[in-house]
Amino acid sequence: MEDLRSINPATGAVIATYRPLGAAGIDERLATAASAFERWRETPLAERSALLVRVAGLLEERRETYARLMTDEMGKLLGDARAEVTKCASACRYYAEHAAAMLAPEAVPTEMTKSYVVFDPLGPVLAVMPWNFPFWQLFRFAAPGIVAGNVALLKHASNVCGSALALEELWRDAGAPPGVFQTLLVPAAAVAAIVADDRVRAVTLTGSERAGMSVATAAGNVCKKCVLELGGSDPFIVLADADPVRTARAAASARVVNGGQSCIAAKRFVVAREIAEPFTRALADVMGSLRVGDPLRPETQVGPLARADLRDEVAQQVARSIAAGARCLVGGATLPGPGAYYAPTVLADVRPGMAAFDEEVFGPVAAVVVAGDTDEAVALANRTRYGLGASIWTRDPARAEALARRLEAGMVFVNEAVRSDPRLPFGGVKRSGYGRELSHYGIREFANVRTIVVVTPADTPTDTSVE
Ligand code: NAP
Repeated sequence: MEDLRSINPATGAVIATYRPLGAAGIDERLATAASAFERWRETPLAERSALLVRVAGLLEERRETYARLMTDEMGKLLGDARAEVTKCASACRYYAEHAAAMLAPEAVPTEMTKSYVVFDPLGPVLAVMPWNFPFWQLFRFAAPGIVAGNVALLKHASNVCGSALALEELWRDAGAPPGVFQTLLVPAAAVAAIVADDRVRAVTLTGSERAGMSVATAAGNVCKKCVLELGGSDPFIVLADADPVRTARAAASARVVNGGQSCIAAKRFVVAREIAEPFTRALADVMGSLRVGDPLRPETQVGPLARADLRDEVAQQVARSIAAGARCLVGGATLPGPGAYYAPTVLADVRPGMAAFDEEVFGPVAAVVVAGDTDEAVALANRTRYGLGASIWTRDPARAEALARRLEAGMVFVNEAVRSDPRLPFGGVKRSGYGRELSHYGIREFANVRTIVVVTPADTPTDTSVE
């Protein structure tokens, strides 16, 4: 098996290489997870919540170290990396505070003496995670999943092994019993066999559509619970009454968040014809003025992409879109040097059939699509295989709320960029996956929603055939 490597995408330098686990190492960790689960499920919820509070404290204490690690491994801006660590801590605190209410038994009135629903853990859950938010993606699953009594096995993206090991150490240092949180340093090729192992009770994957389909197939083969958080090509819909310049500034931020490498970054800008010209001009001005460079420097606004091969893929998608008729207003080029940099780019005249419309472009590339009227805007927004987030920009929020219901998306924000929040469910429809993370919906994804019915003999109902 090949070693796994972390490469700093800002410099091209190899940070470290890691020997992946072999079959015996994987087996040992799965056995540890299975026995840890037997004890963890019986640990009182208050103790499980207290672990999350300790994890939150350590995250805050070590914020600088973890932020620097993420920036070095995948190139996000250091300021964003710090905010990511803080967000993980607040998600832990949120679930520590609310898990008891979310997991409380629910009484259901029936003709039986007693009927109610309890939320029990499923067991060891495999989390296959991407590199774009190396800490936050993991915590979206792990905070609710672990407090609910499950134990976690993390298979992180191969380019962020340092973050994967730091996460394991963090849970251990916070006092998680052995086996409650383990990292498996394995390549993607090892995942299907782990999913098939009886000791693994469920799997959650955040990543590309291709990886999602492969893991869902592996889970389907053994009839195992699976949650998929996949890609997106979120529409950012600008209605004719929106302020074109202010909205263009919001559009640029929504596009270049995390260097453009976010599943919920706005990717297709569907603009009403009436304001298309001033909006597009302002968007090109803002995108063209962004400072690209070293993610460690506070003045930098766009860092490198996470890997050189991913940067090359973005360059290809832009080239194919231009060949198909898109007009490049700004950017459109790989930047010279050893880092994986790509210039912030605006493509105009984008239409269905072009790569920038049909595919997920994971980089700082804004595709502007003009719509003749609101119905066409909705049709264009929905004309994608994906259905993760969407935003609508207008001076008339009531109109936008009505439009929101017509969009094929798991999340719609009005006059605000789509973002994750522990209080709100997160997830998509269509090829963006299924299941939900965060909120009480997320905590129940990895719960056995168990029905308990009790009939005391004196109350035995006459008709027991009702299911
Ligand atoms: P990726 O290539 O799909 O990798 C994600 C994870 O899946 C990695 O751990 C990867 O391991 C593993 N993997 C890849 N192919 C696999 C296979 N055939 N079987 C099993 N595991 C496999 O995605 P990425 O490039 O890291 O992340 C970017 C993608 O994630 C984008 O499409 C983005 O939209 C999506 N994403 C979605 C959400 C959401 O919540 N919906 C959030 C963030 C990102 P290796 O690294 O070892 O290949």
